[in-house]
Amino acid sequence: MRCPFCGHEETQVKDSRPSEDGMTIRRRRFCPGCTQRFTTIERVQLRELTVVKSDTRRVPFDRDKLARSVRVAVRKRPVSEERVERIVNGIVRQLEASGESDIDSKQIGEAVMEALREVDEVAYVRFASVYRNFREAKDFEAFLGKLGEDGELPSDTKPAADPKP
Ligand SMILES: [Zn+2]
Repeated sequence: MRCPFCGHEETQVKDSRPSEDGMTIRRRRFCPGCTQRFTTIERVQLRELTVVKSDTRRVPFDRDKLARSVRVAVRKRPVSEERVERIVNGIVRQLEASGESDIDSKQIGEAVMEALREVDEVAYVRFASVYRNFREAKDFEAFLGKLGEDGELPSDTKPAADPKP
């Protein structure tokens, strides 16, 4: 792999380490050209996914974008980077397993909400607020109403605030 710092053609793998769930391998690489180190991550891709947006535009599925939105949701919450990786892997696996190459952007949003709800209530509400705001502001108001009039969030992740009837 080419060095991202100096463009040197050959870099050396110094260390390979599988992730906790065994779904990815991290490789520490060293560039003999500029002596910088960087990490590459190898993971299984079962199929190429295309996201169909609500305005019917089609874009290639972007795993990094998904990971970024999960990271934003869990910011300053007790959720490790390892856990974020597992959440994202789980969502991607779920989308790939649907058997369809075309996936609705809504499907992704719902999958992220499902995953976050089990991990951290605050992260879930953050993501849901942004996501549902984009979709329909009224939905989110109804959803908040179910959380309780005082606006306080439950401190645990029990489904006390389950927005489903
Ligand atoms: Zn280099």
